[in-house]
Amino acid sequence: DPRIHGIKTKIRVVPDFPKKGIMFQDITTVLLDPKAFKDTIDLFVERYRDKNISVVAGIEARGFLFGPPIALAIGAKFVPLRKPKKLPGETIFEEYELEYGNDRLEMHIGAVEAGDRALVVDDLIATGGTLCAAINLLERVGAEVVECACVIELPELKGRQRLKGKPLCMLVEYR
Ligand code: 5GP
Repeated sequence: DPRIHGIKTKIRVVPDFPKKGIMFQDITTVLLDPKAFKDTIDLFVERYRDKNISVVAGIEARGFLFGPPIALAIGAKFVPLRKPKKLPGETIFEEYELEYGNDRLEMHIGAVEAGDRALVVDDLIATGGTLCAAINLLERVGAEVVECACVIELPELKGRQRLKGKPLCMLVEYR
């Protein structure tokens, strides 16, 4: 799709952020370009509009930028999966490993129900640990995870292999 090249040119690569040796993929520059931002959302909406998705689960923080417009366009509810102690209601959590130490994702109990058909949205997949935690949260409450969607994949980190067999749709690869 010719739109993908345009999106790719708007992703800014910032060397040594947040620490030395990391090439950070900055999607805020995609948001600055209304056409690239709209193309990003449209590509996902075209893919998911007829797939009976009932819930879009967005991962904090950048999954909150792409998830809600997709949810609105396909007529699904939006559920935020958040970092610890941000959600006010009763939650369940899944822990996952970071390079140093652990983090966790939390989800409100009752937001997703058994039988919901879920799409998980984030900006980028690296090791896949974050998306794996999201899949586990959704499956624990009986939802079916239909697919994961990311703007960017770092394929060398083989994050796809951690998605418990769930398909991944991405727009841009960075090697
Ligand atoms: P993973 O759990 O797959 O190793 O890491 C993915 C998570 O880290 C995502 O939530 C993503 O937002 C964040 N992340 C890691 N590296 C980058 C990066 O280079 N750019 C952006 N935008 N996010 C990153």
